[in-house]
Amino acid sequence: MEWRAENGNRLRLMRGDITRVPADAIVNAANSALAGGGGVDGAIHRAAGPVLRRELDQIRAGIGHCPTGSAVVTTAGALPARFVFHAVGPIYCGGAHGEAELLAACYRKCLELAEERELAVIAFPSISTGAYGYPVEEAAGIAIEEVRRHLERPGIHLREAVFVLFDQAAYDAYLACLPR
Ligand code: ADP
Repeated sequence: MEWRAENGNRLRLMRGDITRVPADAIVNAANSALAGGGGVDGAIHRAAGPVLRRELDQIRAGIGHCPTGSAVVTTAGALPARFVFHAVGPIYCGGAHGEAELLAACYRKCLELAEERELAVIAFPSISTGAYGYPVEEAAGIAIEEVRRHLERPGIHLREAVFVLFDQAAYDAYLACLPR
């Protein structure tokens, strides 16, 4: 399913495994320590190979950790992408701890990193809705709104943003938030 902005830019939803999706950048749902995790992070590291771990170790040596709501960039190893943006979503603690703003900030940071590199296609997983416990119906609304707003801007480089949803429940939640 997809939505098209008036300027022709597309927001697409698909079910699948983000490690198989060709894009200029794919986004990882990382943790603040930039240490290995399960879920989409584990899948991305397995598919990309050891170069990601090495680059993240170097980044960590420089900045210590990545704050929640931000992201760091590596190359993509064996993935069919040029870059991986390792975004740190909020851990959901009931919703009154700034989670919505932090989740929105994650998507904005990734879009900004894509524009700095003049990328055309970015693929996102559903950040924070696995181990971090963010209710997917709420997270979907935030994710789609941030990306839609960006795609509607004049003069951007991005042409397409794809949400790659791993299971049907996540797909349905994002579909419900897609603008008509
Ligand atoms: P977080 O810690 O940010 O919640 P998770 O990796 O636990 O991150 O989950 C985020 C979302 O990514 C979940 O909806 C999960 O089902 C999904 N996911 C897991 N593996 C993949 C994959 N290979 N491709 C796309 N999405 C995935």
